[in-house]
Amino acid sequence: MLMYSIAGLNPIFHWVKDHRVHHKYSETDGDPHNAKRGFFFSHVGWIMVKRHPEYLRRQREVDLSDITADPVVMFNKKYARELFYIFCIAIPVAVPVIFWSETLLHAILTQCFTRYVLILNFIWSVNSVAHLWGDRPYNRAINPRDNTLVSLVTGGEGSHNYHHTFPWDYKASEFPYSRLNLTSLFIRGFSQIGWAYDLREPSPTLVQEVIHKIGDKSNVPSLIR
Ligand SMILES: [Zn+2]
Ligand SMILES: [Zn+2]
Repeated sequence: MLMYSIAGLNPIFHWVKDHRVHHKYSETDGDPHNAKRGFFFSHVGWIMVKRHPEYLRRQREVDLSDITADPVVMFNKKYARELFYIFCIAIPVAVPVIFWSETLLHAILTQCFTRYVLILNFIWSVNSVAHLWGDRPYNRAINPRDNTLVSLVTGGEGSHNYHHTFPWDYKASEFPYSRLNLTSLFIRGFSQIGWAYDLREPSPTLVQEVIHKIGDKSNVPSLIR
C-alpha cells in the first residue's frame, strides 16, 4: 500500500472498483475507460470528464465487500491525501536532496514532474495502447492486446490479451518471466513470506486449448519458447 502511494494514483479502493467494472463491462459504456471511445479517452480523457451514466449504474452493482473489509485498503482511502503528499511528493523530493545533495529545484522537477508524469502515462498506456495495438494470441475476438512496449514501461503489465482472457491469473501473463514481468516476481516474492497467498493460475493445458481454439496464432510466448 505504501509503495502504491509512491505512484500517486487514486486510492486503492477506487482503483479496484474501476478495475472490476472495466473487466466486467469491457469496451462498453459501462467500462470507465472504454477504448472504443478512442486513444485519448481511454488514456487520460476519462479522468477529465463526467463518468458515463452506464458506468455509474454498473459500479453500484459491483461487489466490493472484500475490500471494504480490508483495513489496509480503508486506511489508504481515509488518508489518501496525506499519503499522496508524504509518499509521492515529500519523500521522493527529500531523498535526492538529503542523500546526494541534489538541489531542491532539480529534485522537484525530476520527482514531481518527470517521474510522476511518466509513471501516470506508463500506467495509463495499459488502458489505451494495450487496448488498441498488439497481438491477440489468446482471444482474437476481444480488443485487449499483448504489447511488449507496454510491458517494458509497466514492469510486465503488457500481456493484456492474456489478462482479459484469464483475469484470475495473478501473473497477468502466461509465464512469470515472459515480457519482462517483474510484477509477478514481486507478488511471488511476497508469497514466499506469506504476505501474498491463494495465488491462482489456469492449467497450462487450458491455456494451450484456448490458444488453439480462439487465439490469433501470433506471437504466443509458449509457442515461441
Ligand atoms: Zn485488469
Ligand atoms: Zn483492459
